Amino acid sequence: MLFKHSFFYRYVAPYTGRLLFNVLLRVLSALFTLVLTIAIAPLLSLLFDTGSTQSAMTGSGLAQSGLEILENWIRLSVTENGKYETLFYVVSALFLAYFLKNLCAYMGLYLFIPIRNRMVAKLRNDMFHKFMILPLSYYAKQHKGDLISRISNNTQDVDTQMLNQIQQVMVDVATFIFLVAALFFISPQLTICVIILLPLIGFLTSFISRSLKRKSKKLQDTIGRISSQVTESLEGIKTIRSYNTTGYALRKFDAENALFFKINTRVLHRVYSGHPLNEVLGTTAVAFILVIGGYFIIAKQSLRPEAFIAYLVTMIQILPISKNIITAYFTYQSGKGSWMRIKEVLRADEVILEKKDALEIHGIQHGVRLENVCFTYGKKPTLKNINLELPKGQFIALVGPSGGGKSTIINLIPRFFDPVSGKVLFDDRNIADCKIDNIRALSSLVSQDTVLFNDTIYNNILLGNPTANRDEIIQAAKMADAHDFIMATPNGYDTLIGDSGTKLSGGQRQRLSIARALVKKAPILLFDEATSALDTEAESRIMQAVQQAGKERGQTIVSVAHRLSSIRHADEIIVIEEGEIVGRGTHENLYENNMLYRKLCQMQNLDNRTSSSNPLPQNTSR
Ligand code: ADP
Repeated sequence: MLFKHSFFYRYVAPYTGRLLFNVLLRVLSALFTLVLTIAIAPLLSLLFDTGSTQSAMTGSGLAQSGLEILENWIRLSVTENGKYETLFYVVSALFLAYFLKNLCAYMGLYLFIPIRNRMVAKLRNDMFHKFMILPLSYYAKQHKGDLISRISNNTQDVDTQMLNQIQQVMVDVATFIFLVAALFFISPQLTICVIILLPLIGFLTSFISRSLKRKSKKLQDTIGRISSQVTESLEGIKTIRSYNTTGYALRKFDAENALFFKINTRVLHRVYSGHPLNEVLGTTAVAFILVIGGYFIIAKQSLRPEAFIAYLVTMIQILPISKNIITAYFTYQSGKGSWMRIKEVLRADEVILEKKDALEIHGIQHGVRLENVCFTYGKKPTLKNINLELPKGQFIALVGPSGGGKSTIINLIPRFFDPVSGKVLFDDRNIADCKIDNIRALSSLVSQDTVLFNDTIYNNILLGNPTANRDEIIQAAKMADAHDFIMATPNGYDTLIGDSGTKLSGGQRQRLSIARALVKKAPILLFDEATSALDTEAESRIMQAVQQAGKERGQTIVSVAHRLSSIRHADEIIVIEEGEIVGRGTHENLYENNMLYRKLCQMQNLDNRTSSSNPLPQNTSR
């Protein structure tokens, strides 16, 4: 199971075939590099005419015979075609090998680009998909900017620091293996001595890389927080300016930025320590080779000078490659910090899960019922044993002091949260047993924060019910008291409303949200302070129109309202205080018998009558 979440399993494994082909190209490229390296010794013996016929090498049979075969060819060609012509052939062969080496390397890169981009696209898609299904409780704990940073910066890092490194390392590792093989080919004794150095390199590398991974995760978390602060500050720029709190925002930002500076400096110190580390190791290796090689040439006479030069040339090629591999490994480790942040999102608990054999539900016959519902966001109970009937066709209002749990009740109905204990029933079906999409289709929620998209007014309303026709849209807009202001805009229903509806007033935005909810014609309408930005008159007018339409269509309307004038004509008013129902009844009834309700009414200068003293014409659309 764990393996299934691994980066390689999900994002790299599907491209195994293409990757293997890519590896083949890289291996070919490395093979040509090898040819170039090995051909140096015979070329030198040809140029300097060292008369290597004596074949003084006492290395392995393979090394001797390999070099000898090449030398024999050259010797044969020299006797048949002369030295100049042979030199021309050897140089042409080297040129061809060089050309093919680069062609294969480029083709490998070329083929890897779409694979890499597809992997990143898939990663982003997976994250966005997860964002769309994560429960609202997840967003209560996360900062928007941080999540944006995860889907933008961190996926980009995975691309440049992990995928890019994988492809680079593929070339380097193949070349490295071939070049080490070439070293064996030229002088096995010397190579065995060099290999003794390898465990030392491995030890130093793993020590640095482990701390790098940890630090990189910290660094990415800091970038996430910086991004959240920028988002928050830009969204709240008006408030920041009006309260003259620019200093506060700057100080907070400065602190985070300073932390970023500190961690990033440490990370880069570690990353760049790969270069000098490698130089030192490389120089040590070369010094070591010079001493040992010298010993084999001078004292033992078991190594020919041109073979030694070829050996050194090969070694010099290996050094930058091994440096690249180590640097790539470090970069890969620091990319893993970003991957860990992405994984946190991908593995986040969905909490609200649909059962495997979830029931279909497409309508409500009798109503909604909350049965012994308890709920908490943390430790303190938010709702304590709530029992509530919301019969079909009725208008129920939830009132009470702020923080009592009214919005929480509203959020339990479309199953944005699950109760800790107790049930929410549609007719007699527990919504936890039903399909989530079905449950959401049965209700429309309008909350205080209106969400509009940068599109036309028409399309924003249509979002509530994509099958609605123009007449239905206009009817909903009229009911939400929005038709008149829409007609006064330059293009009527086809007017673009700007980013998040910035071209509209708060009240106009709320009216559009209400129209959108009405056009859905869902059996349950949930209003959570949906009319708070409207004036009292408009609010009463809309609520009465909605109530009347609700009665005609058999819709259950649940409304949370601070302004009690808008709900005084509700069929039932539920008074909620500190997570408990402390009163229920009609306006008159509660006014007489419930102290808290009466106090709330008196604070708003509301008397005990169900209708306002100055009744307004019903169902009009000014
Ligand atoms: P009301 O709508 O009556 O004002 P709410 O249902 O919004 O009350 O909130 C009830 C309690 O739950 C409050 O104490 C509030 O602080 C807390 N609360 C609301 N939403 C969250 C949340 N997402 N995370 C933690 N606590 C929350």
